[in-house]
Amino acid sequence: MYDSLDKNVDVENLALLPSGIHFRNYCLDDNNEKRVETFLDTLFDPHQSLPVTIEKHLTIIKSYISGGKPFEEFCTEVRKYNKSILCGFVWTNATISYRCRTCAANPCMSLCSDCFHNGNHQGHDANMFRSIGGGICDCGDVTVMNSNSFCKHHGPNRIPNAQIPYKLIRCAQILLPRVILRFVQHLRSHVSPIKSNTYSTIEEFTSLTSLFNLFDDLSNAGSCIRSIFTDCLLNIELYEKFNTQPSINDLSNISYNIYLQQLNETSSLLMPISLRTDNSSVYFHIKKATCLFDEILFWLVKYQIPERLLKFLLMLLTDLNFKSSCIQSFLNIYVMVIDQLIHCQNSRERMHSARLVHISVQLFSNIDITVQAIKDYHLMELILSSLYSIFSNIQINCQLQKPKENYHLVIYDIDFSKNMHYWPIISDFINILSHEYASKEFLLEKRFFITWIKMISWFQGMNVNHHEIESEILLQSNMNYLFAFTMETECCAMVLWTINAHIMKPDFLDITTKVINYLFLEVKQWFSSIGFEQYKDIIKNQVTFHIPLHRYISILSYLSLNYQNGELKTLFPIENEKFLLNLAIFPLRIQVVKYEILTNTIWSYHSYEMQIQSDMYSSTHGNICSYMNDADIFLLQLISTLVNINKFMEMFFKSFYVHEWLVQNTENNLIFEKSSYITLLEGSLIVLATIVAFSPHLVLDDFEHRRAEIINALVIQDCHYSYLDEHMGEPKSFATSKYDIQSIVDDIAEYISPTIDITNQPKQGQYKLKDFLWEDEFDPLHVLSRISRRDLFETTMQRYTKW
Ligand SMILES: [Zn+2]
Ligand SMILES: [Zn+2]
Ligand SMILES: [Zn+2]
Repeated sequence: MYDSLDKNVDVENLALLPSGIHFRNYCLDDNNEKRVETFLDTLFDPHQSLPVTIEKHLTIIKSYISGGKPFEEFCTEVRKYNKSILCGFVWTNATISYRCRTCAANPCMSLCSDCFHNGNHQGHDANMFRSIGGGICDCGDVTVMNSNSFCKHHGPNRIPNAQIPYKLIRCAQILLPRVILRFVQHLRSHVSPIKSNTYSTIEEFTSLTSLFNLFDDLSNAGSCIRSIFTDCLLNIELYEKFNTQPSINDLSNISYNIYLQQLNETSSLLMPISLRTDNSSVYFHIKKATCLFDEILFWLVKYQIPERLLKFLLMLLTDLNFKSSCIQSFLNIYVMVIDQLIHCQNSRERMHSARLVHISVQLFSNIDITVQAIKDYHLMELILSSLYSIFSNIQINCQLQKPKENYHLVIYDIDFSKNMHYWPIISDFINILSHEYASKEFLLEKRFFITWIKMISWFQGMNVNHHEIESEILLQSNMNYLFAFTMETECCAMVLWTINAHIMKPDFLDITTKVINYLFLEVKQWFSSIGFEQYKDIIKNQVTFHIPLHRYISILSYLSLNYQNGELKTLFPIENEKFLLNLAIFPLRIQVVKYEILTNTIWSYHSYEMQIQSDMYSSTHGNICSYMNDADIFLLQLISTLVNINKFMEMFFKSFYVHEWLVQNTENNLIFEKSSYITLLEGSLIVLATIVAFSPHLVLDDFEHRRAEIINALVIQDCHYSYLDEHMGEPKSFATSKYDIQSIVDDIAEYISPTIDITNQPKQGQYKLKDFLWEDEFDPLHVLSRISRRDLFETTMQRYTKW
């Protein structure tokens, strides 16, 4: 059998290279160490390119690893000694996987189909999804999911396997490190000359497909093989020896110097002043590699995260010890990725760099690793500096009030919408904050939240809409105004919701009060930088839907008042009436604009764009309404109780132009048609009623509100379960909700089975609100807060009268 294998080997080497069985015998005898080395030197001669070596000698390499056994047989045998408690099945392209919200301790939890079906998820809130970006099965990881639901092959309670026999694994232990060393030489040799900055492309990695297939097979053979790789990758001595061995004179392109030159070319990440302490350094530099893993990570990023190499590393990450040892190496190259995200040329390049999240999600989902990284490796500073550098790179003067007198900077979304390169980093940030320790640390350390507040102020006043098309004002494309909403929710809202999940208890009253106070200071600074002195000066032919500082104040105050025993008089500057009215005018302006749009005349130039923005503002999809509309309404509710009510009413009705029409009785010089005033009057009364009576949905896990939202959704239309799941106006929670939708739905709605479909496609049944709830709990104001189109409201009212 082995003779036939040897036929594939290059004729010149045939005489030199022994068969698999002979190789095994040499390996098992320590006296033959030198001899084995010589064979491997021949096999992995760097004068021959690695793809050629693999192409010519793959069969013999496999037979050496297995010690002469058929390779498949060897892998199956080795797998029997698997020690890993984690499943770690890796997929990098679209694959069906599973998520169980009942069992998840982390938002990013995912399971492979084997582990899901073999685990215990009876009656759980679980769903199947197509994970487009790829992922890793978390079965067996106690930090990510409930251990009761592990399948029987994974988790700490699985029956451990026996120790692997020395004779079985010895050859692999000798050969595999050599493959890795040769691979690193290959990575070095393929980098293009410095300065030209064109690295070898990812496509070149296809020439190594057979090698990566081999890596995959070996990694799938379980922990015995994986630990050979990880031991070799983290071995400091091995790496030193590798770099100090006498260089091969005619092959300078594989030397350590190549790596060093490339390392010197990388730029550093600046730490914003607000984050620095007396003894912190100003820059995050990329440190020199101390082991093969460091260097491989460096090349991984340099070559824009080629998929196959990434997959290999991800498979190794299923080893928990390796995972915790590699966090420092990973954070080291994080800086490089930020630099690439900021400077790369096109969306394809950015998409490649974004693959970094595959690794970071594995690391940051693990609580122990995240805590260690915050304590020992400045993770919080690193991630905030990264975001700071990404956002500060694309700013433009805010167009609010009089643009020429406005010195405030906002994020310029045109740049972003093309490429969305903030996403991987914000997703890491949210993942980190999902650990209570991290959220706490973030709030307790003033430098951290001050820096974040500075960043959210850059979203404040984004994307200003103007009545007239003025030449000096940048016209926005449709994409951009939608993108501004996505961006504000993904960055500002998600971070706030993630933190809030941890601070809904009285222990956090002091710190929440402090944060709100800093937000007030930032708003004051914002007023002065946009040249805004008092609410009467607000310019009415423009509007921005983006006021995250206001929304942070509102939502944090709600949380403090309802869950921390906070008191309004200590949270809010209650004596400063002028400031409070100034604070109210921007959210009020948005409420007015909702009805300005309905007049069909005031925003006639941009009626389509404005309608879409107004829809987004109240949209239940993506839970934007809770964060925008509800937060703005709650802020108005608070302020209306704190200021002189007459002043508030005057400001209120003047904003709706009702004052000039009704009170001043200046019929002759009115600016709009009479019908517009009627729409605005109606709007003002609805908004006023909302301020008086609407109960906003601002915190997670609030049973009454959740129930009210489900009723509201069913009032508007009969819905599928999945629709309810997605279109419910409530803050998005990562934590498992205590009150699951199903039990509420069962209580308030009737299930209507699907009608028989001749196409035989599976059809979902719908839910219909129980009749008596129309009488008891139908709330037209609630409906109006969740929709912006009047026709939908009219349909709802027809449904109500029909009932
Ligand atoms: Zn699995
Ligand atoms: Zn499993
Ligand atoms: Zn489950």
